[in-house]
Amino acid sequence: MKSHKTFRRLGALTVLFLILPMVASAQVDPFEADPLGLLAFLEQSQVYTSGTDVFEVFVCDVPDGNVPVDLAAAVADINAALQPYYAWLSSGAYLPAFVEGGTLIASGPSGWPDSIVLQSECESLAALNASGTAAGALVIVDAEYSGGYATAGVACEETGDCPITFPSNGRIMVVGASTVVSSQELPNGRLSTVAHELGHTLEFPHSFGGLTKFINGVTYEYDNPMDIMSGGSLVDLNVGTIAINRYAAGWMQSGAVFHRGGTVEYRLASIGTTGQQMLVLPTDTQGVFTMIGARSSVGFDAGVVTEGVEVYQIDQRATACGEVAEFICWGADRRTTSVPAIDDPESAVHVFEVGEFFPIGEAFVSVDAGSGGRWTVTVTGSTVSERFVDDNGNIHEANISTIASLGVTLGCNPPLNSEFCPDTAVTRAEMAVFLSRALEDQVDPTTGLGVFDDVPPNVWYTDAVARMVELGITTGYEDGTYRPNAPVSRGEMAVFLDRAFGSLGSDGDLVPFADVPENAFFAPATDALFDAGVTLGCQTDPLSFCPLDAVSRAEMASFLARVLVPPSE
Ligand SMILES: [Zn+2]
Repeated sequence: MKSHKTFRRLGALTVLFLILPMVASAQVDPFEADPLGLLAFLEQSQVYTSGTDVFEVFVCDVPDGNVPVDLAAAVADINAALQPYYAWLSSGAYLPAFVEGGTLIASGPSGWPDSIVLQSECESLAALNASGTAAGALVIVDAEYSGGYATAGVACEETGDCPITFPSNGRIMVVGASTVVSSQELPNGRLSTVAHELGHTLEFPHSFGGLTKFINGVTYEYDNPMDIMSGGSLVDLNVGTIAINRYAAGWMQSGAVFHRGGTVEYRLASIGTTGQQMLVLPTDTQGVFTMIGARSSVGFDAGVVTEGVEVYQIDQRATACGEVAEFICWGADRRTTSVPAIDDPESAVHVFEVGEFFPIGEAFVSVDAGSGGRWTVTVTGSTVSERFVDDNGNIHEANISTIASLGVTLGCNPPLNSEFCPDTAVTRAEMAVFLSRALEDQVDPTTGLGVFDDVPPNVWYTDAVARMVELGITTGYEDGTYRPNAPVSRGEMAVFLDRAFGSLGSDGDLVPFADVPENAFFAPATDALFDAGVTLGCQTDPLSFCPLDAVSRAEMASFLARVLVPPSE
């Protein structure tokens, strides 16, 4: 069993609130450091998560201790186990390094499991004997138990009251000897407990069933067999940690993908696999969201009890971690609970396999496929009240919602995709993507690739432009370019739509748009759009189409919505 000393953060920000409540609350944005606005005070969670992280290791000799600990052997064992483990978790970004500190002599007994008082004495002794050059300390109490605790040590740097002689930040792990040496009576948790406590020094919280228990006066949040930061494996170091912890540490190169609405297919990659590793379903409350990650039984995840897609609710509101009302949970205090709740150390009910599905609020998630560490999930519906926050009151808002629900647009500010940018001109690259999705054309392109000099391979619009070529919807310009960044004119847009949805039809009589010459290349298309009710023109007196004007994204939404969902007669 592992125990975790709750790390109370009473840092500089709390002090500021007390002294200057008006100013502080108005100026401090706890989510400012996170470009995705997911986690509060993210920069403070990344103080120690990159490069080499040195811990001095001490053995603390207690009167009732009876487990001989060879310091050099223990240091070697810990390095051998934890270095490849954390290199795997961090994609090589982070390397813990344990070095010999020394032996400490404590006066009082360990008292385990009834109290952890002596561990505090060992912690104080380590403070007096540390070199002051390491980034943290690991204290092994020579008594026979397999628990431990850790403090992450960021707060004292803010308040300026860090111990002088000790790891300058008060960052420490204290563990029982059974966590590092073999013990017949207590074989559990060897080295996995040290890996767990190290996670706490990186600000990783427990991820558990959401039902905190108290056993022997100790908080018990170890019911998740999928995570080293909860139950993990009781015997071996053979499960990793969840996506949000890897994101918080800055170890997830490709960040996260957000779902705000519509029906969208996502591909999630397991640890060690290239690709998006975290899908976020936001809520209307900042700091509260659902995260979905993928886990495969390979590498250090060989011990996961179920392969598939795992679901967690993240809550950073003050009420979640018992902080004062103005404050917000961060780092090791944020609540990370499985969905649905587990309440059983062996259970993986929060992990969904291929063919399974589950609701998250008003959204619905299905796991469609999984192979080679990549999992395909489809999300339908929304967990937020507003699909886009920047289209309120826009005359095209209903049509924007229509094409969003059809998956034709995902938004304009990936990966958040909380905005539609209604007033921005549609580019030819966007036009290709809109049409590709509107046609539900998910066929991989072949002959259309590499046709245009200015359409590079493997960018977000490459496949869509290639499919437009293959479907005869675009031929590009005479100079062999597609001009992906050029705005689409209304005349071009008419041609695109007419070719893509050839059944629009014309009644044969050319509409007398004052500004559409009969021999213009877009004249048949504007006529077809008018006859189909997709456009009424840009003005009525005289009837005009404004063929050279750019098309805004909002206008395009209406054009596409009218094509895809024709107004009822
Ligand atoms: Zn813990």
